[in-house]
Order: sequence, then C-alpha cells, then structure tokens
Amino acid sequence: MKVVVTGGAGFIGSAVVRKLVLQENVDVVTLDCLTYAGNLGSLAAVLERSNHKFVKADIRDNKAVSELFEAERPDAVMHLAAESHVDRSIDGPAEFIDTNIVGTYQMLEVARAYWSNLSSNKMEAFRFHHISTDEVFGSLGPSGAFSENTPYAPNSPYSASKAASDHLARAWFHTYGMPVVTTNCSNNYGPYHFPEKLIPLMILNGLEQKTLPVYGSGENVRDWLHVEDHADALWQVVTRGVPGEVYNIGGEAERTNIDVVGTICDLLDEVVPVETSRRNLISFVADRPGHDARYAMDISKISNELGWRPKYTFESGLRQTVEWYLSNRAWWEAIRDDRYAGDRLGLKTKSNGTSSSASEGL
Ligand code: NAD
Repeated sequence: MKVVVTGGAGFIGSAVVRKLVLQENVDVVTLDCLTYAGNLGSLAAVLERSNHKFVKADIRDNKAVSELFEAERPDAVMHLAAESHVDRSIDGPAEFIDTNIVGTYQMLEVARAYWSNLSSNKMEAFRFHHISTDEVFGSLGPSGAFSENTPYAPNSPYSASKAASDHLARAWFHTYGMPVVTTNCSNNYGPYHFPEKLIPLMILNGLEQKTLPVYGSGENVRDWLHVEDHADALWQVVTRGVPGEVYNIGGEAERTNIDVVGTICDLLDEVVPVETSRRNLISFVADRPGHDARYAMDISKISNELGWRPKYTFESGLRQTVEWYLSNRAWWEAIRDDRYAGDRLGLKTKSNGTSSSASEGL
C-alpha cells in the first residue's frame, strides 16, 4: 500500500509517517511545504528509509500535486496539511482560509482527477482521508459530548476554516462518489509538538523557570489525546473505515487548562527539582478572544465499529511527553532560537497596534 501524507512534517503528520514507515511497513510519500510548523527533524528516524520519500510541495499547487499523484500512484491520501494554531488564526485568518479551505479543495480535485482514471477495483479501494478537529462543533456546556451528528458551530477563524474543509470533503463523496472518510479529533499532545501550543509551551517555560501564562481563569476544558493514539486511530480509519462516514476520535481525558499546567509543574518538580514549586510560576493572563469553554468527544462509534480505544492515560502520556522534551533538547532549542521564542499570540491587535483587553473579545 502506498500512502501520501500531506502535512507529514508537522506534529500529528510526522507521528503518522513514523508509524506507517516503521510499524506498518507501508510506502509513504510525505508531502509538505515546510511552513514554520513543518520540521524535517521530526522525521529523522524515517527520512532516508527505502519505503519513505519526502516531497516539498504546496497543497495549493495543483500542478505539482497532480504530477506527484501521477508519478507515485498512491492507494490512499491522508490529508493533514493545515494551518493549525487558533491564536495565529486570530492574528491572521487569510492564511487559514487559503491553506485549509482552498488547499483542501485543490487536494480533493487532484485526487478526483487521479481516482476517476483508476481501474474499477482500484477506484473502490482508494481512500481520501480528511483529518479534522473537534473544534468544528463549537463549545459545550458543563455536560455532554460531541457526537458525529452534533451540528457544526465553529467559533474561531481556525475552526471555521476546518469546518469549511470538512464540508468540501463530504460533498466530494456525495457528489462524485469519491471514497472519502473524515475524522474529527480532540486536542493532541506528545513528542515533537511545536512549542506554541499549551502543553509544550508550559513544559519548556517550566523547565527554564519562566512565567507560565494561563488564559483567563484556566477553567476551559479540553479532551486530551496522545498523538501516537491518534496516529493509531487514523490508521484504523484509513484502512477499515467506511467511505462517506465520519469518526470522532478523543482521549476520554477531560482536564481544565489549570489542572494540566499544575500537573506539568508537579512532573517537572519531580524530575528536575527546584527550590520552590513551579506552580508559583503560574500567571493568569488575558483570555483568548472567543475562547471555547469545553470540548469533549463521544468515541463510541470508532470504538464499537473499529475497535479503537486510546492506550495512554493522560497521566502516563504526559509523563512520557515531559521525559521526551527533557531528552530531546536539540529538537526544541532550534525552534526556540530560530522560529518561536514563546511570545503571546492572538490578542486581536487593533489597527493602531495595541492589543485588546481580555473582556473585549468575550
Ligand atoms: P501542524 O501545524 O503541526 O502541522 C501542519 C503541517 O502542514 C506542517 O508540517 C506544515 O508545514 C504543513 N503545511 C501547512 N500548510 C501547507 C501547505 N499549504 N502545503 C503543504 N504543507 C503545508 O499541525 P498538526 O497539529 O500536526 O495538525 C495536523 C492536522 O490535524 C491539521 O489538519 C489539524 O487541523 C488537525 N488536528 C489537529 C489537532 C491538534 O491537537 N493539533 C487536533 C485535531 C485535528
């Protein structure tokens, strides 16, 4: 089986590529244009393997991607390439519209042109797997969970762009009959996570004994899934999922942000002790504009139909993640030095250059 993985140099994409190349022994073509979030260092273990090829290309470049499809003749596409950070989508939505919506449209069109010329057996077996987020469903109250039938209600430019791309993927199945499967997943964490996201930012700031900025009151709830569990789930869906179907993926590990940060402090204090607890470094800062209160996923469909469940508990996964950052300094030090030093993003900068206050965005 040959699989094209778009966004394969990113956080989740690289976990998928490492898994497919090393564990499943599949031929993998990683397609990535290497934005600030793309990192070939995340693929070091597989980059030169005979069953792996890296192609630097932009998903919006119809010609380049068409040529790649004709040359490689894949059996499946796992489409992860996207702009993925909510705070960046607040500062600059244009790139999110372009990459996530127009880019997905281009991928669907290239795949359709290629797929419609396959033999009937190959046409039936082909899969276009569109990878998306639980954020398309909006925000939950204190109880309940998102199911595959929850109506869409995205609140950020990021989640709105992902919602649009989900609708395109759905339409390419219903209109053209292309075998599309879609997954919506909750927040991931784990090794190789770009340190602009909550968990790696807190690990690195805590390690360096810098302030730990927590948005708002810290009471927002996320359902956390280890990235390797996500990669396993994606493999189950692309190989065994039913075309036209959507599968929710989640960790059944709801935690408030302040709980997550507190647990990271305790883990770091245990592994790299300091005089006073790192919990003293926590500082509450202006909330993210439009910050969703709570996400939770009902994973009974993927669990009942495909037999997938997460293997990590949040505690075991977080410990493994902290240990990974401690023993892989070279990977994140290069990013902190060259690309992102930990500055606050997404405060709705006004045209006069000042930032809005916390209450303005709510
Ligand atoms: P990421 O930002 O770490 O990686 C995105 C990758 O896509 C990067 O390697 C980047 O270079 C590449 N890319 C971006 N624009 C491109 C373009 N125009 N052409 C080619 N490559 C391009 O993202 P991630 O966290 O790994 O997320 C991957 C996917 O999973 C996204 O579609 C995201 O919406 C979805 N998702 C993420 C999470 C999460 O918690 N991170 C949860 C659910 C779903």
